[in-house]
Amino acid sequence: SKSLAEADPDIFGGIQGELRRQQEQIELIASENIVSKAVLEAQGSVLTNKYAEGYPGRRYYGGCEYVDVTEDLARSRAKQLFNCAFANVQPHSGAQANQAVFQALLTPGDTFLGMDLAAGGHLTHGSPANQSGKWFRPVTYKVSEDTHLIDYDHVAQMAEQEKPKLILAGASAYSRHIDFKRFREIADSVGAYLMVDMAHYAGLIAGGVYPDPLPHAHVVTTTTHKTLRGPRGGMVLSNDVELGKKINSAVFPGLQGGPLEHVIAAKAVAFGEALKPEFKAYARQVVDNAQALAAVLVERGAAIVSGGTDSHLMLVDLRPKGVTGKATEHQLEKALMTCNKNGVPFDTAPFTVTSGVRLGTPAGTTRGFGVDEFQQIGHWIADVIDSMKGTDEADPAVQARVAAEVRELTHRFPIYG
Ligand code: PLP
Repeated sequence: SKSLAEADPDIFGGIQGELRRQQEQIELIASENIVSKAVLEAQGSVLTNKYAEGYPGRRYYGGCEYVDVTEDLARSRAKQLFNCAFANVQPHSGAQANQAVFQALLTPGDTFLGMDLAAGGHLTHGSPANQSGKWFRPVTYKVSEDTHLIDYDHVAQMAEQEKPKLILAGASAYSRHIDFKRFREIADSVGAYLMVDMAHYAGLIAGGVYPDPLPHAHVVTTTTHKTLRGPRGGMVLSNDVELGKKINSAVFPGLQGGPLEHVIAAKAVAFGEALKPEFKAYARQVVDNAQALAAVLVERGAAIVSGGTDSHLMLVDLRPKGVTGKATEHQLEKALMTCNKNGVPFDTAPFTVTSGVRLGTPAGTTRGFGVDEFQQIGHWIADVIDSMKGTDEADPAVQARVAAEVRELTHRFPIYG
């Protein structure tokens, strides 16, 4: 049959355009990464044709002997990587992994305690716009107003007051270590389940450079595509095999039909990569790079929420520079650096504008950037922001100079060549 280029030039053109964009821009979105060709190949494979409702060895369809092998490998590699007793690799996304845990452990109307979206939590942790906020009763903890750190005494107080059935730790825009042991103590003090959503930190945890939630949490959810550097998807882990049975029923048939076996095979490939010693060095470099980037931005007069980072990401508070998150995102993109606007804790700017941007180093580190490159990137970001002089527009000459230098750097560190 025809190649994509012949069969559907419009879609082929879109994909080629996106490939060039990824090759030429510096990707600073903290939740993104650059997967290997092996991961891409597994995801683009004939496994997409296969129906395999059920789990390996217990399917509702014939012809599953090969996808049983690949899904079993995904599960066993996940368990080895995170040193745990149970893995479900079928959730189509991080949101669905979280939904599956809620379905397994909560009844509509139940109270759970999660991190406030405005403090760095995720939509699926109880936002009124999300099912987690519509079908359950979320109560939230914030970060401390002066340190921007999780205030564990406040979490304990909220737990005592609200008696949640489940406590959810984990975030999308929190750069510091989370004390999962303390969270478990708080959960135990009120008889709640502890769920950890490690989506952002999973690769750092696999690489041994971020605290491991698995010894403490009843259940852990994650995406597979952020720091973990796999295909887009979700996963649920636990050390409690009995609880795992409830999770399995919640994922299928509770929430999903046929699993995406091509994506599951790609997850297995990524877990295999993460089990190699090089991945530990990668994870360490991601954090070193983030700390180097944050230090340059502070030196250049921006503020970093909580003063720095222990992870792959940072929230830049732009208020000292007098510019908004929305304008900065836009102006950096014109200089070939991609990031996202993000509210800072206790932000008074509207959600659609914000006072901050979130920056991350996972993708840049994958293409080979080290501390020197990230220090340079910090200066480019500051050059563009300073040229905005408190307005919504950067100086086009500065943008053009930075864009040319970015192009030179990305050509020196090619991807998918
Ligand atoms: N959990 C956290 C902490 C996240 O940051 C995200 C993604 O941004 C998700 C869950 C949702 O993942 P997905 O976009 O795959 O549904």
